[in-house]
Amino acid sequence: MTNMSTRKRVLVTGGAGFLGSHLCERLLSRGDEVICVDNYFTGARDNILHLLANPRFEVIRHDICFPLYLEVDEIFNLACPASPIHYQFDPVQTVKTSVHGAINVLGLAKRVKAKIFQASTSEVYGDPAVHPQQESYWGNVNPIGPRACYDEGKRCAETLFFDYHRQYGVNIRVVRIFNTYGPRMNPQDGRVVSNFIVQALQDKPITIYGDGSQTRSFCYVDDLIEGFIKLMDAPDTVTGPVNIGNPGEFTIRQLAEIVIEMTGSRSEIVQMPLPQDDPLQRRPDITKARELLDWQPTIPLRQGLERTIDYFKTLVA
Ligand code: NAD
Ligand code: UDP
Ligand code: UDP
Repeated sequence: MTNMSTRKRVLVTGGAGFLGSHLCERLLSRGDEVICVDNYFTGARDNILHLLANPRFEVIRHDICFPLYLEVDEIFNLACPASPIHYQFDPVQTVKTSVHGAINVLGLAKRVKAKIFQASTSEVYGDPAVHPQQESYWGNVNPIGPRACYDEGKRCAETLFFDYHRQYGVNIRVVRIFNTYGPRMNPQDGRVVSNFIVQALQDKPITIYGDGSQTRSFCYVDDLIEGFIKLMDAPDTVTGPVNIGNPGEFTIRQLAEIVIEMTGSRSEIVQMPLPQDDPLQRRPDITKARELLDWQPTIPLRQGLERTIDYFKTLVA
């Protein structure tokens, strides 16, 4: 049993989002006190309603672009819109969230000597010229394109994390997250897994952008959260960046076919224009996560999709 004196106080920014809500749940279940900070830009109270009755859980509505003063032991910085339609809705705010947000949470970590974790992304690799992607690859990002607000914002946040680490000795962890799916994905955010499942459940056309030959590697949310915890609990020398993702690589067309088959849908596949700068392929090299964290994904695509389809069935009647 954890008692008051040994209980950790953990701040989760973006805690009302898809990944943040699963992380809050996981931290509470191991006995931590959790403060969730969120401005509800893309997150929702519904995602954390089931946690509100827990006396160790606290929610603060706040935009991390502005300073915040709290006393905590650990910080997970997840606040940032993550899907292209949301991060491109207000690109300037996206950059501010990544950059000003990182400065504020790093300033907080420095003041209270908290360990701090950054949710970075495979998007730092851009449209990768190296495949699969290792952490040592510096990436291929268009700095002025429509995805840049997200990609470059996240790259600058990584820079800030490593500079606060080198300059002030802040204890940092940086994870590069590859495409993740599961219950509590926002059905409106246009990501491929949620779009396809919702379209299939409604027998509406499945929208493939381009010819569907581009690839992604999809990680189930529980596997990802396990990787977060292992990285945060690793020795202080393990700063990252560490890729966390599922190396199982699928074309978008394959994903559409699997979803149609698993839902028994009558949907047809239609092709829509490929968005600008859409990466052609993406697959994590997870050697570092295996060696440093003894982590690897355990939930194959079909099993994770089954749980995700069940979740969307409760929303899409
Ligand atoms: P999400 O949109 O569901 O969650 C982001 C949360 O941050 C939301 O609750 C949103 O309201 C909140 N937020 C946004 N701007 C904020 C601000 N200025 N101040 C306070 N709160 C703010 O997205 P997600 O999929 O849960 O992603 C979480 C993190 O993981 C993000 O940083 C994202 O970049 C990263 N990530 C996610 C994926 C993925 O596949 N889901 C992949 C790579 C990286
Ligand atoms: N900051 C914060 N909470 C804290 C400490 C700092 O939000 O508990 C913010 C602060 O507003 C500052 C930023 O973090 O703008 C960076 O802090 P740092 O100490 O690095 O910079 P300085 O205060 O010297 O500008
Ligand atoms: N995509 C698609 N149909 C959709 C939504 C997305 O074909 O309805 C494609 C998109 O063009 C991209 C891939 O699926 O090639 C993954 O898109 P998502 O927005 O989920 O993630 P990201 O592009 O950030 O990896």
